This record gives sequence, C-alpha cells and structure tokens, in this order.
Amino acid sequence: MRFYVLTLFPEMITNGLSHSVIGRSMESGIIEVVPVDIRDFSKDKHRHVDDYPYGGGAGMVMQPQPIYDAYMSFKDKLADNTPVLYMSPQGSVFDQKKAEELSKLDDIVILCGHYEGVDERIIEEIVTEEVSVGDFVLTGGELPAMCVIDSVSRLIGGVLNKEESFMDESFSNGLLEYPQYTRPPVFNGREIPEVLTSGHHGRVDEWRHRKSLERTLKKRPDLLEKAVLTDKDREYLKKLTDK
Ligand code: SAM
Repeated sequence: MRFYVLTLFPEMITNGLSHSVIGRSMESGIIEVVPVDIRDFSKDKHRHVDDYPYGGGAGMVMQPQPIYDAYMSFKDKLADNTPVLYMSPQGSVFDQKKAEELSKLDDIVILCGHYEGVDERIIEEIVTEEVSVGDFVLTGGELPAMCVIDSVSRLIGGVLNKEESFMDESFSNGLLEYPQYTRPPVFNGREIPEVLTSGHHGRVDEWRHRKSLERTLKKRPDLLEKAVLTDKDREYLKKLTDK
C-alpha cells in the first residue's frame, strides 16, 4: 500500500514513521510512504506557499496552486477511486472502522494543512473527505496523517507479526481489550489474576471476554450500543449494572 502525503514538512513524516513496526514495514516494502513537499511546487522565487486571508483576520492560508501542482505531479499513478483525505479538525472523527475501510485500498493521498488551513477551493477541487483525529486543534496535519498511516498500516497483512496481532484489540470487536499482564507475577504486592497461569485456554478466553465487557462498560459505555453482543454478554452486563 502506498501513502502519498502532501506536506510542508516532509521530514516530519519520514522521521516520525521510520521506527518500530511501521519503519520495518517500509523497509520491507509492504507499505510505502511518499512525502511530497508542497513547497517544491511554489512558483514564488522565495518558495512561499501561503498568503493573507481575503477578508482579513489572523494567520496565513495555504494557497491552492502549489498543493494542486503537487497533487498533479503523481495523480496519474493513482487509481480513479483513490481517496484524498484532508486532515482537518472539521472532518469526521477517524476511528478503527475507517482504518479498516482504508486498509483495503492500494493508495491513499493525505493532505496536511498548516497555519489557518488551506484555501477552500483546493478542498473543493481535490479532496474527497475531511478527516479529524479529535475535537481539538493542532498546528498542522502531519501528526494526524501519521496517526492515520500507522493505524491503517498495522491492519495490512505482513505488517504485524503473529505476536503483535490486532485480532483481540480494542475496537476490533466493538469492545475495549481486556487487561494485559507480563512478568513478574507479583509487582509491588500486586499479583496477576490466577486464571492466566491456569493453562486452561477456555477459562482464560472467558475471563478475558468478561473483562472486555467490564472495562467497556466502565470506560466507554457508548461503545456497547454498537458492539455485537450475545445474550450471555447482555445478561452479564445487566448483572454488572444491577450491582
Ligand atoms: N483554522 C482551522 C479551523 O479552525 O478549522 C484550523 C487550522 S489548524 C491550526 C492547521 C492544520 O492542522 C489544519 O489545516 C489541519 O490540517 C491540521 N489539524 C489541526 N487539528 C486537527 C485535527 N483535530 N485533526 C486533523 N487535522 C488537524
């Protein structure tokens, strides 16, 4: 899978993603991240890419022409349905479902804004979707772009090894993941739950599933509305809420 990232700070993207699991997948060629420096497409001799907002007001706005030319420089390599995501606090909030949907594509284009954002006309011209990483405002779209690339990439076959599997993870089945423990068996007087050393897979699975239900109810009860639950799950949740 290939991610084209339209950015004013290509090093942020390269440096931010060149470690650990994602760095390894880039090295092995499973994923490719192509930062495209918007400034290289400025027609200004000082490589300016922003200007004052029409109508006045604070801050600068990224001009449409360098972004458009940067996009056109690789557009012919993309399939017709390739999405162009503009990272924006005004977009729909990114979630695991969206990551799964995007992980099925061959290419994704991500536009990172800066300053007051981008000229509205470039959104109309090339953007297919605005994507936010949450209801807060960052200085630029590079960190959100890295969040999207990281979460989408780890769903692609071969990116995670067996030990790093995402199958049981939070959101994979609409619930939060159960608590995890590793050595030592006692830490500051806190013991690990006995069932985890029982060697009884059925009991471990049952315990983990119940813990998932418990912590989803406690931390993110909103998720239970959409989670796929069995009658047994509902009964267990009812018991917990009736307590
Ligand atoms: N003036 C814009 C507004 O009020 O909607 C905010 C611009 S923000 C300072 C600069 C850039 O950071 C945006 O163009 C966008 O690319 C990125 N950004 C900021 N917050 C974001 C968020 N929550 N999700 C995704 N991108 C974000």
